[in-house]
Amino acid sequence: MRDDVAVETEATELLRTLIRNGCVNTGEAASGHEDRSVDALEDFFAGSGLSCERYTSQPGRMSLITRIEGTDRQAPALLLMGHTDVVPVNASGWQRDPFAGDLVDGIVWGRGAIDMLNLTSTMAVATRRLAASGWKPRGTLIYLAVADEEAGGFLGAGHLVEHHADAVKCDYVITESGGVPIPTKSGHTLKVTVGEKGGNWRRLVVHGTPGHGSRPFRTDNALVTAARVIQRLAEYRPKARILDAWRGYVEALELEPGLTDALVDPDRVWETARDLDNLALAREAHACTHTTFSPNIAHNLISAGTAGNINSQGEGTMQVYKTGKIVWRKPLNGGSVGLLSTAGGVLFLSNGQNVEAWDAATGKGLWYSQIGGLQSPPETFMLDGKQHMLFASGGSLYMFVLN
Ligand SMILES: [Zn+2]
Repeated sequence: MRDDVAVETEATELLRTLIRNGCVNTGEAASGHEDRSVDALEDFFAGSGLSCERYTSQPGRMSLITRIEGTDRQAPALLLMGHTDVVPVNASGWQRDPFAGDLVDGIVWGRGAIDMLNLTSTMAVATRRLAASGWKPRGTLIYLAVADEEAGGFLGAGHLVEHHADAVKCDYVITESGGVPIPTKSGHTLKVTVGEKGGNWRRLVVHGTPGHGSRPFRTDNALVTAARVIQRLAEYRPKARILDAWRGYVEALELEPGLTDALVDPDRVWETARDLDNLALAREAHACTHTTFSPNIAHNLISAGTAGNINSQGEGTMQVYKTGKIVWRKPLNGGSVGLLSTAGGVLFLSNGQNVEAWDAATGKGLWYSQIGGLQSPPETFMLDGKQHMLFASGGSLYMFVLN
């Protein structure tokens, strides 16, 4: 077998193994089970002369490190880091079993095939082959297969940095994203990430007056007001700013000269992006030259005043933040959840089918009730010194004492 074919086969088979291990990270400490892929990687490295170290933060939440020591202590160390966990799947949206690792017409199918078990496996193949060849680098090469990347990294990278900093200390890291080849006139060009756009979360609270949905005329519906606010946010056009990094990037793309000039002209970049056929480039051009606004989480907040904000993200982890720090997190079963009420330090959530009560401070589930579709937004009020919640569902009126 030609060597490049052998490399490809080796990487493909390891990738399929990692997919089949199904290290699904729901955000719960008891999920992930990355130890399965640590076992697989340790087997893979066997016989190459590499020895592996295992690092466990919680039962099953394991990361693996192997290293090729450098000959020069002063030389910089390079860390290749791939995560072994994947986000949960919505099986109905898949054409193939997401955990079968099918190989069809040269394409590997499965959860994590792109994010990022492909890199976790190819980095392992590179490391193994370098070790087996007897390669002696000046600086140390470290390979890290890390757990819990998809839910904040607390049980993987966070654990390592906190408790085993010497094992992961390095000068450079290569991990996911970047390196995507871009075809240009003079051949393929690789992107280098020189900075990350930061997020700056803001919560807008829109007030209205509760009323009955059958008589909407001349009411003060908070949703209608919120729609106007969101529309204005979407239409707002901040001034363009052209940074050197953007200018260099556009020049490296070797586009038509007129287009290059327009994309680096603060007075023309917005219109140019608007008219571009290449939608990916248009979005990138806009995002790299403007402050962007993205209204993307809506809560139905009935009564305010609590421990923090609720943020429903991605494929379903709920997190409660308090002054920017994660207080606790829970997987969301069944997509998005609306916040009904936050009375007395208790969070009341509903996905329209049931109501759940959580202790806002600890994230402990307090109770759960199946109600099968709300007919009215719940109201909370005090009665005999206790917080009560009232709502209609399925033709019945429900009243709960909240504590
Ligand atoms: Zn990833």
